[in-house]
Amino acid sequence: MDYDVIVAGGSVSGLLCAREIASQGHSVLVIEEDSEIGTPEHCGGLVSIMGIDELGVVPMRATLDNKIRSAAIFSPAKKSFSLDARSQKVIVLDRREFDKQIAHQAQTNGAEIRVRSSLREIFDDGIKTSEGSLKCKIVVDARGVSSLIQKDRTGILQSAQYEVYADWIEKDRIEVYFDQEKFPGFFAWVIPTRRDEAKVGVAGKGINAAVALESFLKEKGKYSTIRKVYAPIWIKGPIQNFVSKNIVTIGDAAGQSKPTTAGGIYSCGLGGIFAGRSVSKFLESGKSSDLLEYQKTWTDKFGQEFEHMLLARGILERLDNKSIDKMFESITPEIVEEISKEGSFDFHTISLAKLLGVKGSVKAIQAILGSEFRRLLT
Ligand SMILES: Cc1cc2nc3c(=O)[nH]c(=O)nc-3n(C[C@H](O)[C@H](O)[C@H](O)COP(=O)(O)OP(=O)(O)OC[C@H]3O[C@@H](n4cnc5c(N)ncnc54)[C@H](O)[C@@H]3O)c2cc1C
Repeated sequence: MDYDVIVAGGSVSGLLCAREIASQGHSVLVIEEDSEIGTPEHCGGLVSIMGIDELGVVPMRATLDNKIRSAAIFSPAKKSFSLDARSQKVIVLDRREFDKQIAHQAQTNGAEIRVRSSLREIFDDGIKTSEGSLKCKIVVDARGVSSLIQKDRTGILQSAQYEVYADWIEKDRIEVYFDQEKFPGFFAWVIPTRRDEAKVGVAGKGINAAVALESFLKEKGKYSTIRKVYAPIWIKGPIQNFVSKNIVTIGDAAGQSKPTTAGGIYSCGLGGIFAGRSVSKFLESGKSSDLLEYQKTWTDKFGQEFEHMLLARGILERLDNKSIDKMFESITPEIVEEISKEGSFDFHTISLAKLLGVKGSVKAIQAILGSEFRRLLT
């Protein structure tokens, strides 16, 4: 055996998984097809401090780009409300640095990392890489959404995200724009990274994300582009089996990013940690039940929340622009205050239910039903 475990994919989930396995004294190799850990960065970097605390990472000065104080949400007709995000303690990470920080943790624990090495094929006793074959007991698939594209394309949206300089960026305010014609089933976002600098992105069903983003930016005002990223996002929730024979699937490859926002640093990172612990147990006991424990642990933590997110997504997909504008009208200052005070960034469906009016806002429910009727009549 060359290694106990080989992890394919050197990003947040793969590196955290390797860190856990190496910490228990097992031999683990991470292969990453890009030539640098953390690059190219395809992430907004938005995460809660509580979330990364649970991942066991304390952000360093180089990792932390910004702190967020509020979030402004806009309807298609530019009706808006603003949430006070201070109690949710949301920060913006530099993913390039963050991934390197976890790589360092994994390496310090004894993991080996190889860049420019790509997984080609998985066998019962090892893998074939771009550089030859390697033997191992367990293969961890942490290849992100690219692993899902081969299995199921239906849950994938195309996204585009540019890093831009512009004087209309508010340093500590995230902006989210809903418009079912421009970004069907998703939204546009502005995530400030520092003064006059932000990651601005869009995603949506069946759109040309680059064209949609450029016209969104033009509407916002003058800007200069520093970096462009195009990446698929997965919005269909977890896959059925995280473990199959000698293959353990984690992170985005297992559908562990939020179906509402596609945010995955926290839930994918924990997927990597839970998997790493189960794999370590399995290597000691040889019992497959120890390996299967990983799926149960992740589902106990996130299963119900992800189901609710899928429901919320189903509702959003059925709303048209008029209904969304109507819904915004029914959002009261009391609801906004309640969410600002009690809402959670990582488990946000209670806040969503409040906003969608499921709890108490008759007007909003009418808006949803109204749009369904219109759909039936066409
Ligand atoms: C535009 C955009 C914005 C986002 N913004 C946020 C945000 O603000 N907050 C948040 O929490 N989440 C955000 N996300 C989601 C977040 O980036 C992912 O959920 C998270 O990075 C998933 O981590 P992962 O390790 O599972 O997979 P990934 O980060 O996708 O990493 C997969 C790794 O596998 C490597 N790989 C692929 N194929 C192979 C192969 N054959 N062999 C070897 N290596 C391979 C890739 O190069 C990559 O390094 C965003 C995603 C996108 C696309």
